[in-house]
Amino acid sequence: MTSGRVAPAVADRITKAVESLTDEVVDFTRDLVRVPTVNPPGEVYEDCARVIGDRLARFGFEVDYVEAEGRPEHTPEHPRVNVIGALAGERSNPRVHLNGHFDVVPVGDGWTVDPFAGVVKDGRIYGRGVCDMKAGIAAAVYAVEALRRAGVTLVGTVEVSGTVDEESGGYAGMGHLARIGRVKKGVTDAVIIPEPLNVDRICIGHRGVYWFEVTTHGHIAHGSMPFLGTSAIEHMGAVLETIRRDLMPVLQTRHTEVPVVPVAARHGTLNVNGIHGGQPLGDVQSPCVADRCTAVFDRRFLLEEGFEATRREIVDLLDGMKGGLPDFRYGLRDLMVVEPTRTPDGASVVGALGHAIQGVLGREATLVASPGTYDHKHVARIGGVENCVAYGPGILELAHQPDEWCGIDDLVNATKVLALSVAELAGVA
Ligand SMILES: [Zn+2]
Repeated sequence: MTSGRVAPAVADRITKAVESLTDEVVDFTRDLVRVPTVNPPGEVYEDCARVIGDRLARFGFEVDYVEAEGRPEHTPEHPRVNVIGALAGERSNPRVHLNGHFDVVPVGDGWTVDPFAGVVKDGRIYGRGVCDMKAGIAAAVYAVEALRRAGVTLVGTVEVSGTVDEESGGYAGMGHLARIGRVKKGVTDAVIIPEPLNVDRICIGHRGVYWFEVTTHGHIAHGSMPFLGTSAIEHMGAVLETIRRDLMPVLQTRHTEVPVVPVAARHGTLNVNGIHGGQPLGDVQSPCVADRCTAVFDRRFLLEEGFEATRREIVDLLDGMKGGLPDFRYGLRDLMVVEPTRTPDGASVVGALGHAIQGVLGREATLVASPGTYDHKHVARIGGVENCVAYGPGILELAHQPDEWCGIDDLVNATKVLALSVAELAGVA
């Protein structure tokens, strides 16, 4: 890439341009919050894509709407519509892509303000999805606009996309864009995803995800003579006990070198999402020994563990139970696998954001990694673009909470940091 650090005088013009459009970026964030893009099921996605696309078009971007053709979740009732804008510089590369998901999680209880009114109070914007991550989308759009207003001509091209479904895996959103080659190695040089990670932190990846379903099979018998049957529920109890006794202590001994936050998530973890055995609850029942019990597990694994070993460990644990329980029978079904990602050392996107954070906030950026997962996986694993991080306004812990908010100071600072980073990555002509 032909970029270099942004000259101080240019950087000064850029940050002043951001300050002068503070009201606009706040208003645009509020506009986005007022479109209730709740997922599931994926409400009014197209409306939100248009709000973003119209603004990008007004700012000189060439705008495309990309529907997730072929994805089962792309239905007539809930179409999955993504938007991409491209602002050409002098050349097509370097190509810098800013991506935000515009779906939001359901509202939930405990709100004291209208979650879709875009309320502004005490220097904060409130609303469902404001922090995760409509403020980030607004910051991306206005970061590029600030460059234009500052009279900065870029060497390369900048893209801003708004995508769907990140909260449910992102397969019709960034996953789709990567699959059809809109974000890919050799074309896209750098990707920044403005997720809320605190305004001085750069997120360089996430742990892996292995969701699996275990079913234990018993033998049905009369409930008054349980000794004549085999209870699948008791066997599932044994599975849970074996995990607690044999696996959990081992997970605690394994540490990752990746700077996952919170620190307690620097081990592999395992959660039981749900469990059910025997007859349906709430209905009339008959006396039967349960011949079937199913549980869904959410195992988060470390880069150092890898998926193959993580899965094998589960299979070995289950197979090992046959020794103690001769009639133990089980089925294992993989539900979802997400490989861990980690931005390579020395990635230019980390350098550019680091310089910008130092310049705007006067402190060193902290590198972190996510305990969960986000659209980084599609950019890196499907698109093959390893020069990708998440950086954006808002406090991570407020995501998905009632009275979710983003501070206007954070929003403005993140917009400055993004603008300076884009200038460095795309190059100032
Ligand atoms: Zn998010």
